[in-house]
Amino acid sequence: MPPRARSAWFRTLGLLMLCMAGAALLGLAIGHPWPVVTLAAFGVLAWHYWRLRRVLQRLTARRRLPPPEGVGVWNEMDRLLHRGQVEMRGRKRRLVEMLRAYRAVAAALPDAVVVVERNSQRVQWFNQAAGPLLGLRYPGDIGVPLVQRLQPLPLAHWLAAGRNAEPLETASPLDPSVTLSLRLIPYSENLWLLVARDVSRLLQLEQMRRDFVANVSHELRTPLTVVHGYLDLIDDGQYPELTPMLAEMQRQSQRMAQLVEDLLTLSRLESQDGLPAEEQVALAPMLSTLRREAAALSQGQHTITVEDIAGVDLVGSGKELHSAFSNLVANAIRYTPAGGEVSVRFRPDDAKDNPGGVVLEVRDSGYGIPAAHLPRITERFYRVSTSRSRESGGTGLGLAIVKHVLQLHQARLKIRSEVGRGSTFACHFSRDRVRPRSRAEADTGTDTTGTHA
Ligand code: ADP
Repeated sequence: MPPRARSAWFRTLGLLMLCMAGAALLGLAIGHPWPVVTLAAFGVLAWHYWRLRRVLQRLTARRRLPPPEGVGVWNEMDRLLHRGQVEMRGRKRRLVEMLRAYRAVAAALPDAVVVVERNSQRVQWFNQAAGPLLGLRYPGDIGVPLVQRLQPLPLAHWLAAGRNAEPLETASPLDPSVTLSLRLIPYSENLWLLVARDVSRLLQLEQMRRDFVANVSHELRTPLTVVHGYLDLIDDGQYPELTPMLAEMQRQSQRMAQLVEDLLTLSRLESQDGLPAEEQVALAPMLSTLRREAAALSQGQHTITVEDIAGVDLVGSGKELHSAFSNLVANAIRYTPAGGEVSVRFRPDDAKDNPGGVVLEVRDSGYGIPAAHLPRITERFYRVSTSRSRESGGTGLGLAIVKHVLQLHQARLKIRSEVGRGSTFACHFSRDRVRPRSRAEADTGTDTTGTHA
């Protein structure tokens, strides 16, 4: 017990004993000790009841009572209660202020924020921006199922995915020209946060960037063809002193032409949401073509093997798939020193998360890529070594093209590499992309054996 409370308790005990002793003395003096002591005891009891009433009053009073004055155990108890009440009021005030501040922040956000009850998927709360972006109205929409309220939006499946729901891009239910990006954030056991952001401007800027790159590349094509043509014309052996210069100019203009072609390919891939054509792509002739291309690039400097173990075809765009695979093969040759090995394998996928899938794998025994570069290697113009890439005639866009083509085919690119030992680029296709090979094609026979180019 704190000293102040202990002394109040002793003081009240002392007063009680003094009262009773005084009453006993008075009773003895007038010759009736027991009635006087009993009377005094009742008096003390009445006083205690009266103080108890004061304490109850403080506990139940709606208005603030002044702090007690005086000493004694009841006053001390009253004082402690008063102090507790003052502290609690302070805490409550601070909490309410904090809650108001948080609500003000959430209300002022430019993104729509909606609190949704997880099981019933009913709207619990939303901020101001949810009005203009999602068309929610207060208070009518509180407690209404979200899917029903935002009917035109394809939310039912998306909400069902819950925690795993990928951000969804969709038109606003109020204005189809506004594109919203929706995210679902589970923030407690039974509450979700739906955040909707207007991304129309971002998409517009992205489109402008794509158009700009596509237009510039397109405009560069014609002047480059002209320059190329004239260079060919000049280089007819008339000016032997200019030959090395002309050869370099031709090499560089060819590089530029390749760059423009790659940029145009990337723009085309980026601007299509789905594949232009979903055809059965015959893999046997494609593998033969890859082998021929590899042999032409290598010019006999590498051991090239092509294996067709899967014996199936793919569904997708033959042109895009060929562009992706030949980029990988070209890289393998370009980043492998003479005498190295390059192998292309088309095999069933043994990964557990891709049953029935297939892999096209390009492996080399070349320079390899340091692990730190792997996460960014598919970015445009990202190079491990700029000089090596330029020397080998690279545009810096090959792997970006590969990534986009695979994305359009819902396939994944996995890269394994070890510096000094080589790299493996594996394209994993799901079973939905696999088709049995037609008889005619199977009969023509494919490269199942190693080929030394
Ligand atoms: P580039 O035209 O420069 O080859 P890519 O996008 O095809 O551009 O490749 C990006 C970079 O990745 C290259 O510059 C190179 O450093 C590295 N790279 C790609 N393939 C391989 C490979 N098989 N072995 C080693 N490095 C590679």
